[in-house]
Amino acid sequence: AEEMVRKSELLSVIGQLAAGVAHEIRNPLTSLKGFLQLMYSHHQDKQQYFTIMLSELNRIDKIISELLVLAKPQDIAFKERDVVPMLEHIIVLAETHAVMHNVRIFIHHEPNLPAVMCEENQLKQVFLNLLKNAIEAMPDGGEVHVSVRREEDTVVISFRDQGCGIPEDRLARLGEPFYTTKENGTGLGLMVSYRIIHNHGGTISVTSQLHQGSTFEVRLPVS
Ligand code: ADP
Ligand code: MG
Repeated sequence: AEEMVRKSELLSVIGQLAAGVAHEIRNPLTSLKGFLQLMYSHHQDKQQYFTIMLSELNRIDKIISELLVLAKPQDIAFKERDVVPMLEHIIVLAETHAVMHNVRIFIHHEPNLPAVMCEENQLKQVFLNLLKNAIEAMPDGGEVHVSVRREEDTVVISFRDQGCGIPEDRLARLGEPFYTTKENGTGLGLMVSYRIIHNHGGTISVTSQLHQGSTFEVRLPVS
C-alpha cells in the first residue's frame, strides 16, 4: 500500500509539471509550424527536410496534446454523471480506429447503475485511452468487451481485449511517463489516465495473460 501511495504522489507531481510545461510549449510550437509551412512553399527543392521537420513537430504536438488533458484547471467541474452514455459516445469515436484494425467493440452493463461524480471530459479521455490501447494490442483484429457493473460502493468499468498481453515484469512499468512499446507511441496515455482516475478517488488495475489478452479495470466511487 505504501508503494502505491508513493507512486500516486509521484504521478501527481509529474502530471502537474508536465501539464504546465505542455501549456508553455503549445504557442511557440504553433508559430514554428506556421513558419515552416510558409517556407515550404518557397523551397520545393528541400522537400525531404521539410517533411522530416513537420513530422517531428507533429510528434511534439501529439505529446503536448496528451499532456494538456491535465492542464485546464479552469474547465474542471465535477458533476454527477452516468458512465454508460459516456462510454457509448467514446465507442462511436473509436469506431473508425477499430474498423481499421479489424476490431469489434461490445458494451455490456447492469441495469440501474448509480452515477459517479466526475469531470466528464477527463473521464472520457481515460476511456478513449484504454479503448485505443485495447484496439492497438490486437494487430490481427479481435474483440474488445467493455463492461460496467456495480461492486458495493464503486462502479467498475472494465476493458477486456484479446491482444498480445503484457509480460509480468512489464506490468509495473505501466503508467510510467514515456514508457511505450509502440513505434509511434507516446507512453503518456496511461500516465494521464492513472492521474485522472486518482483525482476522482478511483483506481485502475490490470490483469493480463500473454497472447490471451489484458483487462484494465477502472473503479470509481458511487456518487
Ligand atoms: P502508448 O499507447 O502511446 O504506447 P500508453 O501509456 O497508452 O502509451 O501505454 C503504454 C504501454 O503499455 C503500451 O506501449 C503497451 O506496451 C502497454 N499497454 C497498454 N495497454 C495495453 C493493452 N491493452 N495490451 C497490451 N499492452 C498494453
Ligand atoms: Mg495509448
